[in-house]
Amino acid sequence: MTIDTKKLLEIDRNTVFHASTHLKQYAHGEIGGRIITGAEGIRIKDSEGVELVDAFAGLYCVNIGYGRTEMAEAIYEQAKKLAYYHTYVGHTNEALIELSERIIKMAPAGMSKVYYGMSGSDANETQLKLVWYYNNARGLPQKKKVISRDRGYHGSSIASGSMTGLPLFHAHFDLPLERIKHTIAPVYYRREDDNMSELEFSRYCAAKLEEMILAEGPDTVAAMIGEPVLGTGGIVPPPEGYWAEIRKVLDKYDILLIADEVVCGFGRLGSEFGSIYYDMKPDLITVAKGLTSAYQPLSGVIVGEKVWTVLEQGTDQWGAIGHGYTYSGHPIGAASALCNLDIIARENLVGNARDTGAYLQQRMQETFANHPLVGDSRGVGLLHALEFSSNKTKREHFDPNLKVGPQISAACLEQGLIARAMPHGDILGFAPPLVVTRNEVDDIVERTLRAVNKVTDKLISSGDW
Ligand code: PMP
Repeated sequence: MTIDTKKLLEIDRNTVFHASTHLKQYAHGEIGGRIITGAEGIRIKDSEGVELVDAFAGLYCVNIGYGRTEMAEAIYEQAKKLAYYHTYVGHTNEALIELSERIIKMAPAGMSKVYYGMSGSDANETQLKLVWYYNNARGLPQKKKVISRDRGYHGSSIASGSMTGLPLFHAHFDLPLERIKHTIAPVYYRREDDNMSELEFSRYCAAKLEEMILAEGPDTVAAMIGEPVLGTGGIVPPPEGYWAEIRKVLDKYDILLIADEVVCGFGRLGSEFGSIYYDMKPDLITVAKGLTSAYQPLSGVIVGEKVWTVLEQGTDQWGAIGHGYTYSGHPIGAASALCNLDIIARENLVGNARDTGAYLQQRMQETFANHPLVGDSRGVGLLHALEFSSNKTKREHFDPNLKVGPQISAACLEQGLIARAMPHGDILGFAPPLVVTRNEVDDIVERTLRAVNKVTDKLISSGDW
C-alpha cells in the first residue's frame, strides 16, 4: 500500500505536538517532516522510499538494531499471557522477577533493588525523591541539594530538566529548581590552560566541585549526578582519573553519587555499564534506552545497599513509601528487556561494542584528526563525536549563527546518513546500534567525510571561513 506522504504530513502538522521542534516553523510547513515507515538492522526507511543509515540508533537507544522479530514475539507472548498488573504492595510478575535478578547480577557490586519507570526522565525524577527521602530518614533534612554538571543531560521533566545542564532546557521554563546546582563540565578540549595534563584537569574539576560544596555548605549537599560519558552535551569521555578524583571529594562530604547510565548502560562503551568501565562506584544508577533497545518504554533506578538500608528504615518510621507509577514494573516492558538482554548476550554485542567500537575510534581518528575543519575527534566504545572548529590550533568556535554543526548533519542526510547535530556547539554525534559491523563503520566514515568536505568547500567559497 502506498502512502500519501503529503496528505499525512499535513494532518501531522495540524495535530501533532512534536518534541524538540520549532513549533511554528513545523506547523506552518517551513521545515520538513519525515514519515518513518520501517527499519531493519541499522537502516530506517521513509514513506518516500528513502533509506538512511542510522548512525545514532534513534536517540542512542536501538542497540540491538531495528526489525527484530524475536522482540515482537516476546512482546506478543507476554501481552497474551499477562498484559498488565501493577506492582503495588508486593504484587509482581514473572518477567519482572527474572529481569530484576539479571540486572542486579550484571550491575556493579553493591547494588540491591531495581525500581522501574517508563523513561530516563522519570527515573531521574525518582532518583531525586529517593535522595531526599534518604536524608530525611537519616534525620538530615537540610542535606538536599544535588550537584549536576554543565552540559550534563538527565531528561526534560521538572527535576530531571533542572539537572540537565543545557540552557535550552531551562530558559523560559523557570528552571532549574533552586536545589539543583551545576559544576563545571569535564571537557578537556575546552580547558583554558593549555599546559594542563588530563589528570591535572581532572583534579581541577574535582577542586571546583569541592569549592562549590564548601560554598553551599557540605551539610546541604545530598548527591551528585553524572553520566559516565557526557552524552547529549557533546559526547565527551571523561579525562584521565576524573571519576576517581570526584569520588574522593564526594566521600569526604558524605555525598551520594548517581550514575546516569541511560546511554552507557547495557554495553555502549564495550562494558556492561559505564560505571564499571570507569570504576565510578555509584550509590544509585539510572538506566533506560538500552534496557529494551527502545522496543518498549522502560527505565530503572538501581538502588545500592547503602541507600536501600536507609529507605527501609524510612518506611519503618513512616509506613509505605509514597512513590508509585501505574506502569512501574510493566510486564510487557520487562519481557522485552529480557529478550533484549538475551540477544545482547547471545550475539556478544558488548564485545562488539568494544571491538568494532575500537575500530570506529581508529577510523574516525585517522580520517578526521588532521582535517582542517575538525578540532576534536573523540569517543569511546560505540560513541563518537566530531567537534568542528574555525581555528584548529587555537580551538576556536565558529559563529553560532553559521550553524556549522546542523549544516554538516544536513549534508550527512544528503549522503543517506543520520549523524546527530548535538545541541551544544558544532558537534556531530555518532552512536550506531551495537550490531554495527566493520564494513558499516567504513561506510559511515566515508559518508561523513563526503559531508564534511562538502560543508568545508561551502564555508570557504561563501567567504564564511
Ligand atoms: N539521561 C540521559 C543520560 C539521557 O541521555 C537521556 C535521554 N537522552 C535521559 C536521561 C532522559 O531520558 P528520556 O528521554 O527517556 O526521558
